[in-house]
Amino acid sequence: MTAAALELSGVHKVYRHPVPVTALTGVDLVVGAGEAVAVTGASGAGKSTLLSILGTLERPTSGTVRVAGTDTSALSDARLSAVRSGSLGFVFQRFFLLEHLSVLDNVATGLLYRGVPAAARRERAAEALRQVGLTGRIGHRAGQLSGGERQRVAIARAIVGRPAVLLADEPTGSLDSATGAGIVDLLAALAGPLSGRADPGAPTTVVLITHDTAVAAAMRRQVRLHDGRIVEDTGSPS
Ligand code: ADP
Ligand code: MG
Repeated sequence: MTAAALELSGVHKVYRHPVPVTALTGVDLVVGAGEAVAVTGASGAGKSTLLSILGTLERPTSGTVRVAGTDTSALSDARLSAVRSGSLGFVFQRFFLLEHLSVLDNVATGLLYRGVPAAARRERAAEALRQVGLTGRIGHRAGQLSGGERQRVAIARAIVGRPAVLLADEPTGSLDSATGAGIVDLLAALAGPLSGRADPGAPTTVVLITHDTAVAAAMRRQVRLHDGRIVEDTGSPS
């Protein structure tokens, strides 16, 4: 059996400052390779904390986090950041684009620290932009794009390194609902073995965080958080 893409067991997260807050409590979650999962819940439920822990941006107070079978608690910060840059891609509510750079260069920066030569970086960036439907905007500056287009560029930057897992925290939060629906459909389509990726070897897993249940409905599996606990999980369809 191949390892799950992501596996949390008994995860607790307590923030100590300025006052103790238990953000996650007893979270067990297994996400299989190629799944498309939405994590929902009200503001403050612990969604962003969960995404940070799944993405190894933060360590849990207790419990274990496995990424592609590797127990991350044993890893040094340097090894952890290698796992992160090799296996994980991130998309946020804000796009974090470099406004004065071209769309192509914004995406190519996603490969800067992977030792990919410049010509290959641009080739792969063009391929990622094709996957998000932005071939026609390659030469634009990021600052010239609409909100939905900017988020597509951010998604292309996140997938250009062909991560096993794509993590998105409220990716539609800055967009109107019709534009947001297009972004979520794109994220759902990127998941799984049939996503048309250049390298079909390993399926892409997508975990999307949203407070909006309409947005969540586009993903095949929904997990609901309340007060730091998973209170509902539609499970992985087999
Ligand atoms: P959500 O994304 O569902 O709105 P968060 O995961 O951001 O929820 O936050 C969960 C709880 O943890 C909240 O009560 C929040 O105030 C607290 N929290 C989140 N991040 C921090 C932090 N860095 N330091 C202290 N408390 C935090
Ligand atoms: Mg949040």
